[in-house]
Amino acid sequence: MSKGRLIVFSAPSGCGKGTMLAEILKNDKFRTSVSATTRSPREGEIDGVSYHFLSREDFMKKIDEDAFLEHAEYCENCYGTLLTEVDPYLEKGINVILEIEVQGAMDVMAKRPDAVTIFVLPPSLKELRRRLEKRGTESQEVIEKRLSKAAGEISFADKYDYIIVNGPLEEAVSDFFSIIRGEELKTASMVETINEVLQNA
Ligand code: 5GP
Repeated sequence: MSKGRLIVFSAPSGCGKGTMLAEILKNDKFRTSVSATTRSPREGEIDGVSYHFLSREDFMKKIDEDAFLEHAEYCENCYGTLLTEVDPYLEKGINVILEIEVQGAMDVMAKRPDAVTIFVLPPSLKELRRRLEKRGTESQEVIEKRLSKAAGEISFADKYDYIIVNGPLEEAVSDFFSIIRGEELKTASMVETINEVLQNA
């Protein structure tokens, strides 16, 4: 059985990444890694499902134990990908999506060069502001902080393998699956198939 693919999926917050992922995850060959964070849960978020919500002390302990594939600080909170959320699933042939910010993504690119990296762009910063305000989960001050952060994050977009502009949902999701299909058809992923064809003379 072939191993699953590690997929890095970054987007400024409020970009509609959550809605896209909900569609993608209807396909059971994909899962998202549940990150650890020191941020407080938002309404409706469940510990162990949305995130593993940790105290700063417990988060630091995990760093000392080398439990993270990557970790980063974002808007004064720590976020990290636990190795236990990634490798066991890749071994089982499941594609693991890391929904992470750019600093962590750069780390994963260095550590796992075989990862497929995708950046989701909002149609515009104006539209991003509209979406964040509509979500209504953050104060105006936090929204302003996240917007200025977004502009900085977008400047890293050219480091990724692929860009998806998140306009109409259906198109964005279809772009995602096209990327994955393209990766599956790359010669390096097809070596087994080439050999099978040759052996079936
Ligand atoms: P939020 O607080 O809105 O859930 O997430 C804030 C940012 O942290 C988002 O850009 C999200 O992708 C990122 N993030 C979530 N989990 C991780 C993680 O495990 N590692 C890193 N580096 N970033 C993460």
